[in-house]
Amino acid sequence: MLRIAIQSKGRLHDDTVALLAEADIKITESKRTLLAKAKGYPLESLFLRDDDIPQTVFDGIADLGVVGLNELKEKGYDVDIVRSLGFGGCRLSLAIPKGEDYTDVSWFEGKKIATSYPKILQQFLEEKGIHASIHVITGSVEISTSIGIADAIFDIVSSGSTLVSNNLKEVEVVLHSEAVLIGNKSLSEEKKALLDGLLFRLEAVKQSEGKKYVLLNAPNESIEAITKILPGMKSPTVMPLAEAGWSSVHTVLDGDRFWEIVAQLRAVGAQGILVIPIEKMIL
Ligand code: ATP
Ligand code: MG
Repeated sequence: MLRIAIQSKGRLHDDTVALLAEADIKITESKRTLLAKAKGYPLESLFLRDDDIPQTVFDGIADLGVVGLNELKEKGYDVDIVRSLGFGGCRLSLAIPKGEDYTDVSWFEGKKIATSYPKILQQFLEEKGIHASIHVITGSVEISTSIGIADAIFDIVSSGSTLVSNNLKEVEVVLHSEAVLIGNKSLSEEKKALLDGLLFRLEAVKQSEGKKYVLLNAPNESIEAITKILPGMKSPTVMPLAEAGWSSVHTVLDGDRFWEIVAQLRAVGAQGILVIPIEKMIL
């Protein structure tokens, strides 16, 4: 049985549970229970605050965990980063009041910076040879400059709207972060095998993300033009239809170029185009 630490509530909770569900691993959610056994895989989930996830995995209380790279780097525990998960994207940035002139990091020399990420900030400042004082604050870092606690802030940014509404501007991006699957460094052989099985499922889910299965009918003389348009995984499958002179073409398309490609297909004679979501893809 594998034990995975998941944020009990907050920004990473829903995406983590949804990703496991797509891999057919269902976690029965009752916010009151700390430990829950999953259905569909020998896995149990331990619900924790994200602050506690790196240490829990390091100590081996949990075998795996899902946590933001920012949180992991700040806590600094030596665990394996098994894979990035493609959600919870954000960055850790330095921001200063909008009206300030900014040329380079030397602006921060002698300044006071408020943050919840002192360790990552300290490391960055050392690398740049900047001496600044760090004021550790756990919540509402973004109001620090307007209330006079600090000259600048170092905090999580995603859209940037929080900065704008606090009259701040982002001047240095220090870390790009997303949710990562972390693992204890000394898993037993049995647990490693379970982790491999879990990764195989996650891979199949991730591969299929944004992809669509497309079926269409076309007169045989259009097949060559259609094949040229389709950037499928391999060449498309072409099958004869019962009606003479017509074929059915099957392929996989990326969601982001989907409409553009469909328009091109129609222009060269494709008809009866059917689009089907792909649940899993094993290459
Ligand atoms: P907990 O109660 O578990 O300690 P928290 O308040 O520390 O929760 P959340 O705000 O739920 O944490 O954020 C969890 C993680 O989500 C962050 O560490 C970060 O990796 C990621 N994240 C993505 N976008 C944002 C954002 N706009 N603001 C904050 N965190 C974000
Ligand atoms: Mg937290």
